[in-house]
Amino acid sequence: MRLDLCGVRGSTAAPGAEFLRYGGHTSCVAVSHDGAAEPTLILDAGTGIRAASALLDGPFRGTILLTHLHWDHLQGLPFFSAGDREDSRADLLLPEQPDGTDAVSILSRAMSPPHFPMEPPQLRGAWSFGSIAPGEREIEGFRVLAREIPHKGGRTFGYRISDERSTLTYMPDHRPTALGPGPDGFGEYHPAALELLSGSDLLIHDAQLLHEELAAEELFGHSCGDYAVGLAREGSCPAVLLFHHRPDRSDAALDEIALRFAGDTGVAVARQGTVLEL
Ligand SMILES: [Zn+2]
Ligand SMILES: [Zn+2]
Repeated sequence: MRLDLCGVRGSTAAPGAEFLRYGGHTSCVAVSHDGAAEPTLILDAGTGIRAASALLDGPFRGTILLTHLHWDHLQGLPFFSAGDREDSRADLLLPEQPDGTDAVSILSRAMSPPHFPMEPPQLRGAWSFGSIAPGEREIEGFRVLAREIPHKGGRTFGYRISDERSTLTYMPDHRPTALGPGPDGFGEYHPAALELLSGSDLLIHDAQLLHEELAAEELFGHSCGDYAVGLAREGSCPAVLLFHHRPDRSDAALDEIALRFAGDTGVAVARQGTVLEL
């Protein structure tokens, strides 16, 4: 499969000269089948989904899969121009809500007047909005495993996405310290995370924090890069992309993080605009 990293930030977009190299858009990864010209599966709809539009010549025809409903994973949705046109087809899927609220109602809480001038069903084209439970299913010809993982403020899923050849694990927002400190003090390498990682070629994981920030900031729901690297080691995953950068982390600060992990084989700091063949 091919991955286009369309947005790698967490929390809120980061425009400005000091964020140009790693990029300022919030979470969005576009997934294409081997040899396909265009993506059919989009993970999260942060502001990076605008960059996903640029990958398409015509309308989007595929599925948008949300890990959860926080702003930095949703606010790009109404600006997804390849989806908001008469000839598009988009199926949006989000985690089933604990209180049973349906997908349109829950999305409309964030996207409706007076917060925003329109509601999700007013997007042009053939849109559907649905909820998924944890488990395995086929989506756009990919095998997708969904598992609930700890974060903060709303049900959050991690996903494992496989084609015939390769497997990606996507956990952009994850607070493993919610389950305990774990063997390294960065959070538990818990069963859901390890199941999502099983057989994976690449882990894209929350690295919002530095380990020295964890004690003061883990209540915001995130993890540190050291956890992502430790989890990959526990799950025998050969490659890790540190993702969901804090919005104030400048290019220089992210270069420093890359240096910290320079001795760890297969670990890289995610940059917007990167294209990966898995
Ligand atoms: Zn986030
Ligand atoms: Zn979040």
